[in-house]
Amino acid sequence: MTKTDTIIEREKKLISKALSLRFHPISVESASGTRIIDTEGTSYLDLTAGWAVANIGYSREEVAKVIYDQYKKLSFTTQLSAPSETMTTLADELISISPGTFEKKVWFGHSGSDANEFISKFIPVAAGRSKMISFFGSYHGQTMGASSLSGHAAQSMFEGRGNVVKIPYPNEFRPFSGIKENIKEQAIHFVKEVFATVCPPGDTAGVIIEAIQSDGGMVLPPEGFLQALSEICDQHGIYLILDEVKVGLGRTGKWFAFEHDNIIPDAIVVGKSLGAGVPISAVIGRKEIMDAVPAGHMFTASGNPISTAAAIENLSIIKEENLMSNATERGNQFLTGLKEIKKKYNFIGDVRGKGLAIGIEIVESESNQPDPLVTAAICYRSYELGLLVYTVGIHGNVLEITPPLIITENEVQEALNLLEAACEDVAQGDFDYAKLEEYTGWG
Ligand code: PMP
Repeated sequence: MTKTDTIIEREKKLISKALSLRFHPISVESASGTRIIDTEGTSYLDLTAGWAVANIGYSREEVAKVIYDQYKKLSFTTQLSAPSETMTTLADELISISPGTFEKKVWFGHSGSDANEFISKFIPVAAGRSKMISFFGSYHGQTMGASSLSGHAAQSMFEGRGNVVKIPYPNEFRPFSGIKENIKEQAIHFVKEVFATVCPPGDTAGVIIEAIQSDGGMVLPPEGFLQALSEICDQHGIYLILDEVKVGLGRTGKWFAFEHDNIIPDAIVVGKSLGAGVPISAVIGRKEIMDAVPAGHMFTASGNPISTAAAIENLSIIKEENLMSNATERGNQFLTGLKEIKKKYNFIGDVRGKGLAIGIEIVESESNQPDPLVTAAICYRSYELGLLVYTVGIHGNVLEITPPLIITENEVQEALNLLEAACEDVAQGDFDYAKLEEYTGWG
């Protein structure tokens, strides 16, 4: 038995399946920059960044030093009772990169889920209204409040809170209505219909949305939609919350993906990449929201010195290395290359993205219906060729490209070559689907 087989067998025996999404039989030994080394010593070019966490690349020397020094100086203190400097420095930094001239404050947690749990608890209290609106296909997390706000198949087994009304996310390639025209208008129509019926604006505390729906399938809303939504929220005094956990902090070429649409949310949720691999999340929002319930969302390790110090270093690397402009340039390179590849394969239905948040939607050639099996096959074949990519989407048929933002021009070309080779092998029928038995991702 190889070391990888042993780890996978032991994992099956010892660790809850509640944590399993499996795309390929990999176990990871180490990683550096954009490369992951498995337990057999094989190197992979990584287009996942570990679900958009390793934005500055893996195992950076600078962050390692900050964490080591911080631990030696102060291994722990908690925001609950005794703050330290790194908490306030990071909060200041997050406020300064967030648009909006109103007074803002920050809450710290450990995951996107606990940060969206904050939203679920605090927005209704701050607004003095009970209802929330969210979108089909959205993924906001797995704790009860965050799960209730989500509209993803991953949370479908669980009962949610009854105060959330879900409406279709405007998806130009695969609209919920089945009608491809006027997608923006259709979505606004839905908002108005729920206002007129089950969710009166006077009872609606907030709307939570992803500026790009990532786990939902890398869906970009049509131009002008977020602005129109923001205007409706303003009209009715409804808080607008942008979940930037996956696509925020530089990935789309700006600090936040919603900045491409010139809107100013009342609260912003970040997580994943914030700590460069160390768990930390944050909500940045209007003071009145953030202070709505003193001692109302407390976690012992909130704002801990290690995570906050790592996050400060992470943000400074993104700035110093101009990673946002690299995300724009490499993203354009990817999109151009992928659109060329799309011409050769009928099963590529759509290629879309912004910066380094890119999706490739895989379809049955004739019907245009989602094809999750071919998607899983391309994903698995890419792995065999040395390229890591995951699948997302409420139909499980979108290849997600979210590499570290440090990816170089040559590496993007290498990734395009490998993806094309994987597509070619699957198209030629050179892929054994029996390999997918345990590796269909979300399915
Ligand atoms: N929000 C978004 C937009 C996400 O993509 C995710 C995770 N995929 C979460 C929240 C939840 O984050 P976590 O897994 O850290 O709880």
